[in-house]
Amino acid sequence: MTFSPIARMSFSMALLTLSILLTGDLFFGVNNDGRQDDLKVRQRVIESLAVQFSSLIAVNDMETIRLTLRNLVLREQDVVSAALRNADGRVRAEAGNHRQQWQDIPFGKSTLTHTQVSIFKNKQRWGSVEIRFADAIPKTHWEDITSPFVLLAGYMFLAGFLGYLFFLRRTLKHLDPGAVIPDRVKTAMDVLTEGVILIDEKEQVVLANTAFSDKLGIASEDLLGKKLSVLGWTSVGTEQTDYPWQIAMTSGESQVGMLLQLTIKGDDQRTFMVNSSPILSEKGRSQGALATFDDVTELEEKNRQLRDMVGDLKLSRDEVSRRNQELQLLAERDALTDCLNRRAFFERAEAEFTLAEDDSNELCIVMLDIDHFKLINDNYGHGVGDEVIKNLAKVLRAGLRGNEVVGRYGGEEFCILMPNTGIDLATTICERLRQHIETEVRQCHSALERTTITASFGISSSTCGANSTGKLVDQADQALYISKDSGRNRVTCWDQPERLESTG
Ligand code: GH3
Ligand code: MG
Ligand code: MG
Repeated sequence: MTFSPIARMSFSMALLTLSILLTGDLFFGVNNDGRQDDLKVRQRVIESLAVQFSSLIAVNDMETIRLTLRNLVLREQDVVSAALRNADGRVRAEAGNHRQQWQDIPFGKSTLTHTQVSIFKNKQRWGSVEIRFADAIPKTHWEDITSPFVLLAGYMFLAGFLGYLFFLRRTLKHLDPGAVIPDRVKTAMDVLTEGVILIDEKEQVVLANTAFSDKLGIASEDLLGKKLSVLGWTSVGTEQTDYPWQIAMTSGESQVGMLLQLTIKGDDQRTFMVNSSPILSEKGRSQGALATFDDVTELEEKNRQLRDMVGDLKLSRDEVSRRNQELQLLAERDALTDCLNRRAFFERAEAEFTLAEDDSNELCIVMLDIDHFKLINDNYGHGVGDEVIKNLAKVLRAGLRGNEVVGRYGGEEFCILMPNTGIDLATTICERLRQHIETEVRQCHSALERTTITASFGISSSTCGANSTGKLVDQADQALYISKDSGRNRVTCWDQPERLESTG
């Protein structure tokens, strides 16, 4: 069972009042438990007796005095014994075995149980009347509890508590943040399954609906007056450090779909989709904000899994296309020289031939073959022969421009595709390549230092009448044959077989 802060405050204030009362009693002795009153009454009894005895002594009527004393002891339960004592201390009349009951006390003093009063005769002190009263009967607890002082204290505590409660309720209404929300509004909010929070301009919660307080495991009353921002939110997927309700209040505009995380009930991290709208005064001044909290933890988890799956799929798709590219390279390339193989070269040549026809561009094809290669194999071995083929391919690639393509036609025979190239330029390029081969290829192996390695070239152009790629290649091959036939290490163009372009 929990008490409201106002009830607790009222209780404390009632306790404070009680302690003030008890302190007052300590200083001023308000609570005398009736002893002083008893003493006064007893003093009055004995004084009136003394007056009566004075007149009886004057007429020396000791018998009446004795009778009076006896009656007093008999009738008054409170009186144990009584006596008349003259000035020299002799007991002149007594009742109730006074000599034993009486204990000497200083003359002129009385206590609650032993009271004495002087009697005068002819203005001279004659003696005194003494009464021994019964000892005060110890009070029971109940009598203690029902004593007026305790009753007063109890009354003040109870009445104080109720009074303070009433007073505080009325006056603190202005300070109680939740008091501004009518109950019917709260009831309406409690129907919603989404968490709803209403805050004032200081971000203090003035309303928390049941869905919100249930989700967080904090009672609505305990949320009241708390700053919404100090509950421990963390932003998700944004650098934004201000919370949606703060932005809504400062900008005056609604904030939608912001994700915030909160660890609730110890270790349960939940993700909330938060929307917030400012509450504006008539003059447009921000007076607080309304915020709704939709728990999207499960949805976010599913989204995360989906994102992971899409990522994995993309990875495997990239991997497949990378493998495909590798396979394509393997299928297109010649393993020894890394040039296009014969089939791939012909496919490219077909495509370039069609393009050249469509765009009326000139396309040249070059065939080249290493001269007397068989001798290299025979003299230095097949391995060295391979090195020569490999190095020749390298020299060719190094001497060509970006748009030209080299293919290994077979054995020690290569072909070059030269798109958008006229036959004169092709001849110049081949001449340069021929020279590079002659000077550089043999450098690939120390055993070849004294050998001369050359190649013969044949060029054909799409402008020389070939109507297919095959025909164009044939023409280049025939030009190559002419180069071989006319002494090797030279370049021959198919359209001018009679004008042999060669050196060496
Ligand atoms: P020429 O072309 O000048 O008329 O004379 P050649 O000796 O080069 O002519 P041929 O075509 O008769 O000889 C080519 C030789 O190339 C035959 C073959 O053993 C060799 N050959 C073909 N492919 C390879 C290869 O991949 N590696 C090596 N080492 N030799 C090869
Ligand atoms: Mg050859
Ligand atoms: Mg050959």
